[in-house]
Amino acid sequence: SPIMSIANLAREQVFEELKTSAAGLTDAEAAVRLKKYGRNEIRELAGTPLVLKFLANLYQFFALLLWVAAAMAYLGGMPELAVAIACVVLINAVFSFWQEYRAERAIAALKKLLPSYAKVIRDGREKRILSAELAPGDLLVLEAGDNISADARLIEEFELRTNNSTLTGESAPAVSTADPVPEEKRHLTEYPNLVFAGTSVVFGTGKAVVFAAGMRSEFGQIAHLTQTVKTEPSPLQKELGHVTGIVTVFSVTLGVVFYFLGTGLGHLAPLQGFLFMVGIIVANVPEGLLPTLSLSLAMGAQRMAKRKALIKKLSSVETLGSTDVILTDKTGTLTTNTMEVKKVWTGSPARLDLAGVLANNAKLSADGSVIGDPTEGALLTYARKAGTDPLAAAAANPRLYLLPFESRRKRMTSINRDQAGNVAAFVKGAPKEMLALCRKIEVNGQVKELDEDRRREIISIIDGYAGEALRVLAIAYRPLPAGLKEYTVENVEQGLIFLGLAAMTDPPRPEAAAAVKKCEQAGIRVIMITGDYSLTAEAVARQTGIIKGECRVIEGEELDNLSHEALIREINEKEVLFARVNPGHKLKVVSALKAAGKIVAVTGDGVNDAPALKKADIGVAMGVAGTDVAKEAAEIVLLDDNFATIVNAIEEGRTVYENIKKFVTYIFTSNVPEIIPFILFVLFKIPLPLTIMQILAVDLGTDIMPALALGSEQPEPDIMRRPPRPAKKRLLDLPLLARAYGWLGLLEGAAAMAGFYFVYFSAGWRPGSPMAASGPLYLAATTMCLAAIVTSQIGNGFACRSERSSTFSIGFFGNRFFLFGVLAELVIINLLIYFPPLAKVFGLFPIGPVNWAFLLLFTPAVFLAEELRKLVFRTWLYGKRPNP
Ligand code: ATP
Repeated sequence: SPIMSIANLAREQVFEELKTSAAGLTDAEAAVRLKKYGRNEIRELAGTPLVLKFLANLYQFFALLLWVAAAMAYLGGMPELAVAIACVVLINAVFSFWQEYRAERAIAALKKLLPSYAKVIRDGREKRILSAELAPGDLLVLEAGDNISADARLIEEFELRTNNSTLTGESAPAVSTADPVPEEKRHLTEYPNLVFAGTSVVFGTGKAVVFAAGMRSEFGQIAHLTQTVKTEPSPLQKELGHVTGIVTVFSVTLGVVFYFLGTGLGHLAPLQGFLFMVGIIVANVPEGLLPTLSLSLAMGAQRMAKRKALIKKLSSVETLGSTDVILTDKTGTLTTNTMEVKKVWTGSPARLDLAGVLANNAKLSADGSVIGDPTEGALLTYARKAGTDPLAAAAANPRLYLLPFESRRKRMTSINRDQAGNVAAFVKGAPKEMLALCRKIEVNGQVKELDEDRRREIISIIDGYAGEALRVLAIAYRPLPAGLKEYTVENVEQGLIFLGLAAMTDPPRPEAAAAVKKCEQAGIRVIMITGDYSLTAEAVARQTGIIKGECRVIEGEELDNLSHEALIREINEKEVLFARVNPGHKLKVVSALKAAGKIVAVTGDGVNDAPALKKADIGVAMGVAGTDVAKEAAEIVLLDDNFATIVNAIEEGRTVYENIKKFVTYIFTSNVPEIIPFILFVLFKIPLPLTIMQILAVDLGTDIMPALALGSEQPEPDIMRRPPRPAKKRLLDLPLLARAYGWLGLLEGAAAMAGFYFVYFSAGWRPGSPMAASGPLYLAATTMCLAAIVTSQIGNGFACRSERSSTFSIGFFGNRFFLFGVLAELVIINLLIYFPPLAKVFGLFPIGPVNWAFLLLFTPAVFLAEELRKLVFRTWLYGKRPNP
């Protein structure tokens, strides 16, 4: 086949076959091909059609129950009630569907914020394009951590290894070659000179020509398999689902008991009894909760995205809220990663500059800005200022081989040949590690022994620079014998000749110190873990306030010999800092903290950070400097690489959780005044104060908008001055249930009954005399019962805006959406009462101003009662937390 044969072509033939060259396609040609072959995209499988998603809301347990009730009502000769119940099911379905739809939309929008890019050479220049715009013939530039976004044939590689597990299931890195491979009867993915869409680069660098993109790629052909992965429900969603289940069983039982009580005691006819049973169930089951929760989480994710933290899994929104420890990198996260060489120490300036330029993969663009690693860019800028033109130097010393940078080795080596044909290795890397590999030192053109005295002198210079928070790199070289067959880390990176040190500034981000302080107040521990030199790390940690007092620096090597327990002991006892670590060490610290029960967030950018990111509760990848692999392993991507953004995301995470608690409390509260009238009716034979339709009017009418609005409260002022919420803490814990059912609910129950009796009392009724169970007086009384629930829920809603702080302190009118919700609530109840067709269905009667005056007392009453409770609890219970 034409594609198979691509493997056994020589480099020039590959260019010919795909009508391209070493300079890549031109932009114009790429555009033509893109048009011809289509964008490099995997067609998404059509999801469940919207209609089906909507219909699913009509046959859930709750909906089915109501359908049965509607049927019974119809058969029992109450067609209006039947229609009304059917409408309720429909309205509820529309509402749930709308919320789910908005949540899905929000998540889909988030995905678009993280477009995938590819590096290509076009018109002879390297540039970054959207991977969707890759065309056949494009020349891909690959390096460690990149996702490969099309099938391509390698034409150059240095130590390239790819992870092909998505295609082959094999997780060990595949060794690659750029040489032709004879065609045999084997599967396409087994050719070592081909790379494939959907895989990633684990190590090394390379260049490859695209031969298949989009649905024509191997990945495109199996993509339908990967798209069917379902999104896992978050712990909160599971908990709420679980609770809904329990409450359902509880209320069904209760309903059945009351059915037999009601019919058995002769209060109710069987049909009526059945309808009441449904009423009890409806009153208690928090039907609307799950969609509201999903929406709340999705909105939280959207707010986080606005603050530059991109959430990839909805459940991370809540996990974030309980983060105890942030393990953070230094470079780029706490610092700006704008490197500039400030000091150089060398006895051989010219060769140091040359080595810095050759052991380098960055490029300077025309305007002097850096493309590539800022550390390397700084060396280029420095060399250019000192008179070494990077481009000319690279042209005069062509690269034969590259031993790429790796955070484990902390250095990189380029092997180049000069015009005279001499081959040499140029190495740069972490100072102490480099020093250990050097045997000699070059001073004024002479190579001398690197004796102990000199080593000590160099170390003291490194320490001096590092103490000023400078990032220090050592630079060395080594002439290589001409006949070396293979270049490996072992045979090249040894016996080096020391050239000198380059020290660069990397100023802390201006927001970092404030963010660190915020963490301290919020009870979140911040620990720095960096590949950089100990003293540099400590200096930056002090500048940003992570370290204040005496500090224990644990270096990578020492970490190797510490047990998890010993490590945790160190962390608990002192201020610690991890330096000179490699990604394996990061994984170890994360594991130890997790084993100690902490909720850990860890940052990472390199390809080798993926295991630590995956292991952590919250993996945080850098959006700008991070590799594709790190972004894929992470739960959160920081669009601005900024430490402060993590803290903002935690604040949003905490807020979402608190807000969910707010609306759950609000919704649960109204269940009590819905059920108390019914209990009194059965036990004391009073006329039924609240009908099923009226219960539905609250649960699926008046309650909904304010509840949603509570889910969108702003972060409370003191939200970051509380300790993290224990991860195992349940949302529906005893305090919440006690507050909703045992306190607020009872208050509202009393209000509802007071409203009911007020009508009889005003009409001259006195205790002991019989109460009218039908007619205008009775209808007015039930109307009052319903309206009392509404007015007291308004007071409750205002109070629920904060669980601990006074609503006045968070800004009484601070949530406009909530004010709108209250307005909607009032409009609905007035429509129900004063619009005759509705009033008829809901069994309501127009009530006068005196009644309203009485009802409106409940708003401040419930509100102030709850404010009083908060005041008492703030004084006696909520502890020594500093005041907002
Ligand atoms: P952090 O872990 O906080 O991001 P870092 O950039 O220092 O800090 P690594 O990327 O793991 O961490 O790098 C480890 C060390 O390797 C650096 O401190 C530096 O001495 C050296 N180093 C970093 N980048 C290069 C490079 N491009 N070439 C050679 N050596 C490098």
